[in-house]
Amino acid sequence: MEVDQEFNQDSKNSKADDQIDLEDARAKLESNNDENQIMDRGQAQAAAPGLAELNFDSDRLKIFYDRIFPAQLFFNWLSYNRMKQRDHQTLQSIDDKDIASDYFYHREFTFTLANDIYCRYLSFKTADEFKSALVSRVPHKIDLGAVYNISPQRHLQADKKSFVPMEKEVVFDIDMDSYDDIRQCCSGAKICQRCWAFPCLAAQLITMILKDDFDIHNILWVFSGRRGVHGWVCDSEARSMNNEMRSALVQYMSLNLGNENNERFTLPSPLHPHLLRAFKMLYPSFENIVIRDQDVLSVPKHQLRFLQFLPQEIRTTVEQKWNHIISVAKSDNDDQVGHKLWEVWLEQYKLWAAQ
Ligand SMILES: [Zn+2]
Repeated sequence: MEVDQEFNQDSKNSKADDQIDLEDARAKLESNNDENQIMDRGQAQAAAPGLAELNFDSDRLKIFYDRIFPAQLFFNWLSYNRMKQRDHQTLQSIDDKDIASDYFYHREFTFTLANDIYCRYLSFKTADEFKSALVSRVPHKIDLGAVYNISPQRHLQADKKSFVPMEKEVVFDIDMDSYDDIRQCCSGAKICQRCWAFPCLAAQLITMILKDDFDIHNILWVFSGRRGVHGWVCDSEARSMNNEMRSALVQYMSLNLGNENNERFTLPSPLHPHLLRAFKMLYPSFENIVIRDQDVLSVPKHQLRFLQFLPQEIRTTVEQKWNHIISVAKSDNDDQVGHKLWEVWLEQYKLWAAQ
């Protein structure tokens, strides 16, 4: 889990984290396109009804921006109700097509166009202006940047030092490949219904910590469309955090678990309430997902690692019982070995804890 710490005007590193990513869809659709090159359109439709409709091209993307992309919703969200007043008495409706918001206007948008043409410092006064730009320029990617003190499209009128980022949502980035070590079903950018459980749990835990410990309530979780899930933390307190505060927030949520070279990992006892709460929330899912569904204890590497984490007093006994089960399971071709090892561990743990 990472937090997007890009909060300065020189960096464009938020590209990977914040993009509304059409590239992966394009890659998939282009591969469909390759397959379809050997068939004419009629054959393709006959072979897989509807498939030909998915082919990527700029005309379809333009139609998507024109008819489907929620430009007005983006405007409503990213304006945070900071609308321009029509006069001193009346505030315009947020849904008026031509309503303007300086907060929205000061946000940097970056478009990546066809052939990787990268356009920075874009900004828009209204939802309609935003939509018109999308329809006319047809970006393959859109990045949301920071909100600046002046509108990014006017940045050349100011000298570099006086064009400064003021606010940006805190963005948590959960990558699927972080779970490659323990998921048995997929790896890399691939994702299925089984391993989808991992980012969902991470999102639930982060949401709980932000609510309980920081009184933060407005979090938008979105699937990037590629290999990750992003949590946009939108409360004004979060948007105005500087880099040090963002780092401290991530530090607070981090638990250094070490790696394969770090044999002994010990937790303080009693557990810090912050860790105890996370443990209580995650434990039922650990058993259901990691042990039962992903069946990690059927994998020798994970058997060894699990044993390494056990207290010395109980480790030898568990190891002996496990070795017996593993040798019997090998001769019987038993596919329940991982679950049996877990049952033995639970049994031994209860005996040890009762002493
Ligand atoms: Zn999977």
